[in-house]
Order: sequence, then C-alpha cells, then structure tokens
Amino acid sequence: MAIERTLAIIKPDAVGRGLTGEILSRIHAAKFHIIVIKTRRLTKKEAEGFYAVHRERPFFEELTAFMSTSKAVVMVLEAENAIAKWRDIMGATDPAKAAPGTIRKELGASIQYNCTHGSDAADTAAFEIGYFFSGSELV
Ligand code: ATP
Ligand code: MG
Repeated sequence: MAIERTLAIIKPDAVGRGLTGEILSRIHAAKFHIIVIKTRRLTKKEAEGFYAVHRERPFFEELTAFMSTSKAVVMVLEAENAIAKWRDIMGATDPAKAAPGTIRKELGASIQYNCTHGSDAADTAAFEIGYFFSGSELV
C-alpha cells in the first residue's frame, strides 16, 4: 500500500456543535499525520468551486450555502491508503446508512449535516489539496 494524502474538512455543522476536538482525536487515534491544518470560513464562491462536480445536483445550492455559513477546519492527512482509510472512518454520506462507530453514524445529524468531508480518489485529492494549500505548506 502506498503513502497517500487526502483533503479532510470538519464542516461548519461539526465546528459549530463543538465537535472539532472529538474529530481530531479520532484522526490522531487512527495515526494520520496532519501535514497542514487551518480554520477557514469559505466564501460561497469557494464552496461552489470546491463542490463543482455536484453543480447539477438538486442539493448544490443548499450544500454550498451550508459550507460557507461559518468556519470549517481544513487539513491534509497523510497515511498508508489515506483516501480510503479516512472515508472508512467518516462512514457513508447519509448518517442513517453509515456503519457503527463511524463519525457520521455517531455524530452526523443528516445527509447534509454530516460533519466531515474526505476526498474520494487520487485525482480529486490532488485537486482539493491544491484548492486550499500552496506548495510550501505541503512539504
Ligand atoms: P463529501 O464529498 O462531503 O466528503 P461524500 O463524498 O460522502 O461527501 P457526496 O456525494 O460527494 O458525498 O456529497 C457531497 C456532500 O453533499 C455530502 O457530504 C453532503 O453534505 C451533501 N449531500 C449529498 N447528498 C445530499 C442530499 N441528497 N441532500 C442534501 N445534501 C446532500
Ligand atoms: Mg464527495
């Protein structure tokens, strides 16, 4: 298995509910290396660019409004197989369908307010990391 990097976000719902520490401790327990981390209130335009793959979906407007309401925590995680590993820890998009023990099952409120984001493939991880961080932040 290769060492990979993935883009993780603690979304505004989770930050607003005081879940940042709980989610970071799960990241620590899973032995990810946090390469870089920052808090950021996305602009609506930034949220639209980030989720551009979903622009035709019925939930696009609501999703990008939600993602730009208040601060999120944006970070790059490194580990063996980091992309799939972080998605396993997050669980399925809909908390009602997520496996027991996952972040979304235990902490998520709804399919929209599902606490975290994770890149879904190597190419999207590269795009998403570059969307928020520049080269000198990634060494
Ligand atoms: P993410 O990309 O945030 O890690 P994901 O890959 O599990 O989540 P996507 O299909 O990429 O899920 O959807 C992106 C986000 O859009 C979801 O995490 C959720 O916040 C929101 N979303 C997805 N489906 C719906 C829906 N049916 N109604 C409302 N919001 C939705
Ligand atoms: Mg996705």
